[in-house]
Formats: sequence, C-alpha cells, structure tokens
Amino acid sequence: MTVTAPKKDPIAVEAEVREKIHLEILKRTGAYHSNDHVLLPSGHHTSEYIEKTLVTTEPSFTEGLGAVIAKHFAPWPVDVVLSTGPGALILSHCVARAHPSRPIVVYGTKGLVSGHRRVTLPVEFQKLIRPETHVLLIEDLVSTGSTLNLLTNLVEQTGAEVVGVGCLWRRTSVDLGGRPVFSLVSRDFPTYSPPDCPLCKKGVPLNEEFVRRRAHRRPSTIKGPKTP
Ligand SMILES: [Zn+2]
Repeated sequence: MTVTAPKKDPIAVEAEVREKIHLEILKRTGAYHSNDHVLLPSGHHTSEYIEKTLVTTEPSFTEGLGAVIAKHFAPWPVDVVLSTGPGALILSHCVARAHPSRPIVVYGTKGLVSGHRRVTLPVEFQKLIRPETHVLLIEDLVSTGSTLNLLTNLVEQTGAEVVGVGCLWRRTSVDLGGRPVFSLVSRDFPTYSPPDCPLCKKGVPLNEEFVRRRAHRRPSTIKGPKTP
C-alpha cells in the first residue's frame, strides 16, 4: 500500500479533524445549523447558526465534550470550576467530573448592579474562592468575551488565579486578552447585510425561525390588543 505523505502539518490536520467531529456532535444536538440562510437578531443574514440553548441538551455528548476539555487542562491543578448561565454550568459539571484534580463546581449569577452587568457569587460560594485558589473558567459559547471578563474580574478580586478558559465554541475574532483558552470549535460565521447577501442574490429562502423563537422568549414583546 502506498501512502502519500500529508502536505499539511499533522498536528494541524488532527486539530481540524477533531473540530469537524465536535461540529458534527453539535449538529446532532440540533444546535448547529449550516448551509442555511438565517436571519439574525441584528437584521444581518448568515449561512451558519448556533442555538445556545440546545448545545447541552444531550447528556452523553456534553459529558464527552467536557472530558475533552478536562483532558486538555489535566496538567494544571484546578481547585474550582467556575461558570455562569445554565448551559455553561451543565458543561462545567462534566469538566469537573473528568478532571484529575477533582475540583468543586461553583457558579456566579448574572445581573445588573447600578446599571452595569455583573456576575456575583452566591454568599455560600464566596469562601470557596480564596487567594491562591486555582480556578478554571468554563463557557459554552464565547461570542463577545464579556462574560469571561466579568468572571475573570470576580476571580482576581479575591486574589485567586485563573488557570485557563475552556469552552465548546469561540468566535475566532473575539479578543480574550491573551488568556489561555481551549475551545473545541473556533469558528466565525460571515454575516451579510441584506443588500450584500450572496444567499439573497441566489434566491435561497430566508429562515426567520431563530429570530421568531427569540422574540417568543422575551416577555416584553408580548403586546396587548391595539387601542385605536
Ligand atoms: Zn440573505
């Protein structure tokens, strides 16, 4: 049997193959859509979309992906796995379960403090993050990095140390301030304004399902009968 030598760096090829596998897993949860023509809440159009709420719905998939993140961070001692939001919390449980340091799992709560977005720790968790505690941050999807900044501030205020950030998906364009980040998928979707959209030009029907679903989730959009 003759085998032609790969032209690409084998490590890069392996990373590419792994990313494809992880994308396929996310597709099977119904979270990842490709080859579509999707209307985004911003009004822009895209061919790919990830539905955050569906990412952690399949326990065996979440456990498997969590174990991959745990394996990456296995050489580091981790005392605490910290996240915020329901999807990230499910994933962080799976990461902590598979990490050799047997870290504990705590979560912050997102909210507004004097008009600013904040993540706060429930009082019961505050004594668990102390100076020199090694904290691994876990996110499901990183799109702007703002939640990670809030979590990092929270950890650093206590004098503890952020070991790294593990996530399922990160947009490649997001700047994470040089933090060690490990993501199973690193990908950006090209988005188009409707006049420049190549899919519109091809006449592909526009999928408005995601925007409609979002609008349904927001109670403020429920309108009463119109008064003349
Ligand atoms: Zn379009």
